[in-house]
Amino acid sequence: MRPPLLNPLFAPVSTLPGIGPRLEKLYARLLAREDEKPRLVDLLFHFPTGFVDRRNRPKLSEVVPDTVVTVAVTVEGHRPPPPNRPRLPYNIDTADNTNTLTITYFNARRDYLEKLLPEGEVRYVSGKATLYDGHLQMVHPDRVVDEAGFATLPLIDPVYPLTEGLHPNQLRRAIEAALDRVPKTLPEWQDADWVKRNNFEDFVEALRRVHRPQTPDDIKPDNAAWSRLAYDELLAGQLALALLRAHQRTRAGRGTAAEGRLRARIIAALPYSLTPSQERAVTDIVADLAQPTRMLRLLQGDVGSGKTVVALLAAAHVIEAGRQAALMAPTEILARQHFATIAPLAEKARLRVAILTGRERGREREETLAALAAGAIDLVVGTHALFQDEVAFHDLALAIVDEQHRFGVHQRLALARKGAAVDLLVLTATPIPRTLVLTYFGDMDVSALHEKPAGRQKIDTRAIPLERLNDVIEAVARALDEGRRAYWVCPLVAESELVDLAAAEERFAALKKRFGALVDLVHGQMRGPDKDRAMARFAAGETRLLVATTVIEVGVDVPAASVMVIEHAERFGLAQLHQLRGRIGRGAERSTCLLLYKGPLGETAKARLAIMRETDDGFRIAEEDLRLRGEGDVLGTRQSGVPGFHIARLEVHGKYLTAARDDASLVLSRDPKLSSPRGEALRALLYLFARDEAIRLLGAG
Ligand code: ADP
Ligand code: MG
Repeated sequence: MRPPLLNPLFAPVSTLPGIGPRLEKLYARLLAREDEKPRLVDLLFHFPTGFVDRRNRPKLSEVVPDTVVTVAVTVEGHRPPPPNRPRLPYNIDTADNTNTLTITYFNARRDYLEKLLPEGEVRYVSGKATLYDGHLQMVHPDRVVDEAGFATLPLIDPVYPLTEGLHPNQLRRAIEAALDRVPKTLPEWQDADWVKRNNFEDFVEALRRVHRPQTPDDIKPDNAAWSRLAYDELLAGQLALALLRAHQRTRAGRGTAAEGRLRARIIAALPYSLTPSQERAVTDIVADLAQPTRMLRLLQGDVGSGKTVVALLAAAHVIEAGRQAALMAPTEILARQHFATIAPLAEKARLRVAILTGRERGREREETLAALAAGAIDLVVGTHALFQDEVAFHDLALAIVDEQHRFGVHQRLALARKGAAVDLLVLTATPIPRTLVLTYFGDMDVSALHEKPAGRQKIDTRAIPLERLNDVIEAVARALDEGRRAYWVCPLVAESELVDLAAAEERFAALKKRFGALVDLVHGQMRGPDKDRAMARFAAGETRLLVATTVIEVGVDVPAASVMVIEHAERFGLAQLHQLRGRIGRGAERSTCLLLYKGPLGETAKARLAIMRETDDGFRIAEEDLRLRGEGDVLGTRQSGVPGFHIARLEVHGKYLTAARDDASLVLSRDPKLSSPRGEALRALLYLFARDEAIRLLGAG
């Protein structure tokens, strides 16, 4: 199915020289491909966040200390540390005809250095020069090359986001090697006039420019090369959405009629009454379901705003008509949580509910599959296991996809293909600013849950410098004494090894000393069942302080948790802070959130923490987030949370969105099957940006 021309780009990174299983794991982490193998295309879409300027090439006598220089020196001699003191520095004396320079290494191997910097020869070294005891010194030069190497040394050297354990030079070499595997040209999928008007170069050239910049301008997101690639990404997204929309809207749907008896039974069993916006959402959805066109609706609401019960009531409508519904969650934890919420309500309303994830195996799984196919299950809750080929429904009427904070256009599309005329309801907890709704959702109908369920109180939020860590621990101790439950969140994904992040495990060990068996740990590297068990113990109150990396972000519901400490809060984006904080304040009790930061704070970080203290309105926070991002200080996109996009920076390339959307709808109106030459090229584009699931809709009913 994939255009063969693209095959080289979809080879695993392990096909590059020097990348074995260990490095492959690191690349999987870096490129967020933990579940599947990282591929060259993922590497190529990993863009630099800055550069080192190596153009300054002074004589040694002209070197300004503490600047990055590239100098040509003759190696005069090696001074390794004495064998009994291997921890002392390894010095290498070098000189040009104006001055001397000492190159210093720690823990380096002698044979390696003697090969790298052979005595009597000229080498080009690049790195930061410093003054030590009045002498010029360079500690661990970034680059050491000979004459031939110098000819190809990038003088504008891109800097990439890293992950722990991966050396910048390894990553650079891998990207270089991947660039060499890119086909010379690809068919142009963009409109020729549009390309000309924007001075875009072609895809391959643009990719080369960003990774092999010749000038500082080559590496700026707003230049023509980066903008071209961002536009490609935006167009792929808009095209996929347009295809989904066309699929949902233009193919025959089926109206589902029901009187609402089942719904009423569930509502009667609820221990609370619905909020006005929940009621409105249910009314909208039920009206859509009754229509003979396919529903494509988004239910947007902050964490804790009560989307699950709305989803259940929607399901009840189709079930009353004798049809089936599926609810898909992005993670195992969330799927189990939804199931736990829904099962007791379903029981009262005599609904037949089942769960299906990767963990249900053997007999149990077979039985569930058989019951689903026979129509003996009304509602199935699960993970992406739900859209495997072996899962067949008797009559799937409604697919509900809880995207939480991930954006799985892929999942939406796959579930939509599971029935003859499936209505689609997407739940999202990301309060996307109005200006950006189109980007993510295209032309979906939107229901928003604006008010928080009754009884919720504002979360008392404070920013506290890390120096007062002990006070914070004492405050947590008091809370635990009162029987409260607390999260302690640590950042774990280092953008750079140089950044000193508190590892969750270290913090856990320290807190364990203080609080003993009350403390537990969950993090992203744990196996699913272990993670679930840790969550379950916390939910049951067996443990009361849960140290967690951002895995808890994707949704757990422990209403009894009323304290959250977020360590290194200055490293998190606003959206992420908001999502994390949403894990508390879910019960009737007053909750407290302590934002522990390491000063001094930059202006943007300061503003972020101030907004967090001021408001807990997700929609307002989203607008502020966008505004602050426009002011720069953007870490990697993954870190600052623009989910679903690798290349496009919305604050820079957002201006192209309307064009991309218009372009997508024009293309489909002229060539609905993407069969023209440009259509064929656009299929390649969809593959490149992982929107290929949309292509299957072209052939599907
Ligand atoms: P979301 O999925 O939007 O994050 P949930 O659906 O998990 O939120 O609901 C969060 C909590 O609020 C659940 O414990 C749920 O029982 C409760 N809840 C939902 N709606 C209401 C309501 N109208 N009044 C009081 N509590 C509610
Ligand atoms: Mg939910």
